[in-house]
Amino acid sequence: MELSSINLILVGVEDNFKFKGRRRILALELEKKGITDNKILDSIKNIPRHLFVDPGLSEQAYLDKALPIENNQTISQPFTVALQTQLLDLNEGYKVLEIGTGSGYQAAVLAEMGVKVFTIERHFELYNEARRVLKDLYPDKPIQCRFGDGTIGWAEFAPFQGIIVTAGAPEIPESLLKQLAIGGHCIIPVGNERSQVMHCIIREDEQSFADYPLEDVSFVPLIGKQGWSGDQ
Ligand code: SAM
Repeated sequence: MELSSINLILVGVEDNFKFKGRRRILALELEKKGITDNKILDSIKNIPRHLFVDPGLSEQAYLDKALPIENNQTISQPFTVALQTQLLDLNEGYKVLEIGTGSGYQAAVLAEMGVKVFTIERHFELYNEARRVLKDLYPDKPIQCRFGDGTIGWAEFAPFQGIIVTAGAPEIPESLLKQLAIGGHCIIPVGNERSQVMHCIIREDEQSFADYPLEDVSFVPLIGKQGWSGDQ
């Protein structure tokens, strides 16, 4: 092996060691803020979030804050990722649809929870990069990425026991409600283009849905046929 390859491996090992401690601290922070599901906390401890952001931002990757990614979008704050995941009330083997793959970090958390992940992103560069990182990290996990408008859902694989929308919607897309399994949870921020309220919608039967408005949040806009119009 050449010296430069050995150096690269050593740098990788050192980085992993350094970031492992930070991941543990982040998980403790999320626990203090109200995340009680140990599987979620364990996934936060396991996932190398620094690989989902630009290398220039890796020193900030384990702070509990949203960070910029390509196409003027963001990787959500870890607390928001953990909260949305907790609200999904997941069991292993569930099918979960995510709208807004972004960096792929939320999809990684879902994959670590043992669910089948279907994730859609409307920006090709983000879709492509997230798919690459997820494939590298989880070659054997059931994660399907799709490029396109997630507001119309993914009918081919419906119904989903969980639907998570990681962009702010003007209203709840009809297609997503139709694709939610009975008993399933849809977690979606609804409001205007700057601030929203997180909703947890539970499908009670074929016709009725219980809608629980929760806390105030701020997401980038959900753009598409059943979202905002625009080209951000
Ligand atoms: N879940 C992401 C993560 O872990 O990095 C964070 C996503 S970011 C807050 C919201 C994402 O939703 C952006 O990447 C944006 O391009 C995407 N988005 C907005 N409207 C969309 C749509 N109609 N279909 C799919 N993706 C959409």
